[in-house]
Amino acid sequence: MKFDLAYCLSLDAKLSIYDVRDLNFDETMAFDSAKEHFQCPNDACRLAFDAVNVLGTFNAKNVNYVRTPHFKNIPSTRHVEGCPYVSLRTPASGVEVDGAETDDSREEHFPSELLLTRREYVRKPSSPAVVVDVVRDDPKPPSTASDVEHSTRDSAPDKTSVFAHPVECFVSNFEDKALLKRMPLKIGEHTAPYASFFKKIEYLQDNKGLIYWGKIKEIKDYTQSFRIDFEQKVWFKQGDEAKKKPYSVNVYLSKKLIENYRKRKAFLEEIKHAIDSDAELFCFFYGVTPELQQVPSKKNPEQTFGVFSADIENLDHFIIREAPGLADK
Ligand SMILES: [Zn+2]
Repeated sequence: MKFDLAYCLSLDAKLSIYDVRDLNFDETMAFDSAKEHFQCPNDACRLAFDAVNVLGTFNAKNVNYVRTPHFKNIPSTRHVEGCPYVSLRTPASGVEVDGAETDDSREEHFPSELLLTRREYVRKPSSPAVVVDVVRDDPKPPSTASDVEHSTRDSAPDKTSVFAHPVECFVSNFEDKALLKRMPLKIGEHTAPYASFFKKIEYLQDNKGLIYWGKIKEIKDYTQSFRIDFEQKVWFKQGDEAKKKPYSVNVYLSKKLIENYRKRKAFLEEIKHAIDSDAELFCFFYGVTPELQQVPSKKNPEQTFGVFSADIENLDHFIIREAPGLADK
């Protein structure tokens, strides 16, 4: 069973696994999910047990993941009766019907909004030991049906500030076109179904301000920047031309931007892995729309050629990753 959220004891907040990943890689935050306590997001259930009743994580620290990250029950995890997060454990066999390849293979919790301002966290001043005592002194009654309903609604991850979350929704549900057409996504003032908010790079002229994505052809490592070349081309007709012509598309990542990035190490690992990888890789970005530019030709600097290009401005809204389901589609 996958959890949409978990309660993080030291931050006294409910986090999605994407928040946890963001915190793990953030060099300005002292946070390591392997040392944190994550508990059931259902308040009544969590308060009925002490701090050692925890959940596990999957792909919380892996920079280059393929399978959907999530929180999960571990063998020692207990829930109160009626908790919506009770594992689908079959009592007879004691084997958890974890659905490792079915349940866990898709992101089911679609955020309806990507917030462009990063979430901030404040560490809880009290130590976990104090929390345990409080719980023991003041045991909560088992949850009632209305509590459960209430906390389930409260815990729905309606909004996120982590770009990887909507991207995982899109990638892992890519085959389910009807679902992607049904689920709405809002970024800034613009709302559209996931299916149309994610735009193939070759169709970037259709609309500005979307999440563009495409298969990477090559990544060039220059002195000042990295350049990501996309495999697909944009067909475009300039004013005085009779027919559309294909133009290359690329985005530039300034090395200065990366040097000052709070997740610098993880980002460099991601891009170095991408440069060395033989796997098909895809790039997703939001915030800029590549536009036609004339650049000097290397072979003949007096000549110029047209290319659709953009400089990435915010690395929080940029991802390179494997996405097996998207290959050759
Ligand atoms: Zn629970």
